[in-house]
Formats: sequence, C-alpha cells, structure tokens
Amino acid sequence: MTPETIDDTKPVTKFCYHCRSHHPIEEMRQISTKTGKRWRCIRSIEATQKGPEARAEFGRRVSEMNTTESKNHARRMNELRQDK
Ligand SMILES: [Zn+2]
Repeated sequence: MTPETIDDTKPVTKFCYHCRSHHPIEEMRQISTKTGKRWRCIRSIEATQKGPEARAEFGRRVSEMNTTESKNHARRMNELRQDK
C-alpha cells in the first residue's frame, strides 16, 4: 500500500503511484483502478494521453530527478559519516 504520513485534516501532498513520489494535491487526480482509488499527478496522465513519445520523455525526466536525488542523498550520508 502507499505510505501515508500526511495529516488528513490538512492534505498538502499525495503519493503518486505513477512517479512513486509525493506531489502537491492541486496537481493530483484521484482515479479508480482495479485495486481501488489511487492518486496520480495530472502531468503523468497528460503524458500518457499524448502518446508513447511524451510518455518516454516523462519517464526520462522522472528518472533524472530520482538520480539527482539519490546522488544528493549519498553525498549527505558521506558528510554525516565524516563528521564522526
Ligand atoms: Zn506523479
């Protein structure tokens, strides 16, 4: 299931099952799937509707984002270790 750590009384972001990350709720749409209601961002829905090329482009951007994030994370972990 999706990890929900957000206070329901003040929803700010929702977990996007397509990107596997959180987006602002204004950019999200709730859609019904075989496994129930899920949140997905409008950008990923539009990319899917535009066809395979736009979808591939969207996937590239997501993996670029993920790569940058894990590099930053690795660097932060190294800095933490050197502080000891
Ligand atoms: Zn998304």
